[in-house]
Amino acid sequence: MATQADAQELAALRTLSASIGLNPHMTQAAGGNTSLKAGDTLWIKASGTWLRDALSDDIMVPVAMAPLLKAVEERDPTADTPQAFAIDELNPRGLRPSIETTVHALMPQRVVLHVHCVDTISLAVQADAEAEVARRLGGIEWAYVPYCRPGLPLARGIAEKLRPGVDVLILGNHGLVVAAETVTEAERLLHRVRSLLARPARATAAPDIAALAALADGSVYRLPADIEAHAVALDEESRRMAEAGSLYPDHVIFLGQGSVVAKPGENAAGVAARLGTAPVAILFPGAGVLMRGDASAGADAMQRCLADVTARVDGAARLNYLTTAENDELVNWDAEQYRQKLNATGG
Ligand SMILES: [Zn+2]
Repeated sequence: MATQADAQELAALRTLSASIGLNPHMTQAAGGNTSLKAGDTLWIKASGTWLRDALSDDIMVPVAMAPLLKAVEERDPTADTPQAFAIDELNPRGLRPSIETTVHALMPQRVVLHVHCVDTISLAVQADAEAEVARRLGGIEWAYVPYCRPGLPLARGIAEKLRPGVDVLILGNHGLVVAAETVTEAERLLHRVRSLLARPARATAAPDIAALAALADGSVYRLPADIEAHAVALDEESRRMAEAGSLYPDHVIFLGQGSVVAKPGENAAGVAARLGTAPVAILFPGAGVLMRGDASAGADAMQRCLADVTARVDGAARLNYLTTAENDELVNWDAEQYRQKLNATGG
């Protein structure tokens, strides 16, 4: 920390990060990240850590910003491995900076918040996202960045769209970035944008827990951690959206490609037998969702996120899905495998 003022802002950022991390409508599992620029050092959330742990655990890693930005500028693949730019003497635990570090470095403002806000994602998956956001964000200097894989491709996508004064980014099929000079202003902007983008969720009937227990019988499946997760199987439009593919990167990372829906009369063991593999989650139309017994806390958080997002998407809207190639590049990406491993061990 360069100065007392920087140390105070970092403390304020950790408090805000923990509160963002505790709100499942704002961020889920190890998703989302926050940062503070102190001189030429960028303090950013570590990969695989959860924002909700920002006060109880040391999750911020210092990164040398100038060489990282140079790598982005030169399209140097090293920009995809932000750990190459971590400042080792200030990073005794050897944490890796977030795979989205370049997003934060590119924004000129001192404080940057990146969240997987459910309201934002519900718009950012619609093919008409840019027009729909434009109708809502009057008076805000924002830019729309079409979907790119997080890391160097997303950094290049942002660099193309950034113009002076922009402090809000809507990332297609991904989420929201807000930036400001202080933590207080960043928090205010975050809540303002979120309330402007908010849409009501379609209501559903209650899950049929007794039916789900019967469907799980003789299998390794269990109920999801959050009762809210069931909604995606209970609402016909949500289920159709989920079944059609993957809508954002963390879904692929934690739950695999798309969603599996049981056929009429099929139980959990039957679905696994039909597919030749046991999916992380299974949607049972009209009953609810079952999770594989060994699903991680991150998988549970993302399954609930899917319900929260799809319930807000306009049922008549055409959606953008990640392509097979985009799914594959996420699954096979070393940086994501690292994050997934940390998550599985509770790191
Ligand atoms: Zn993200």
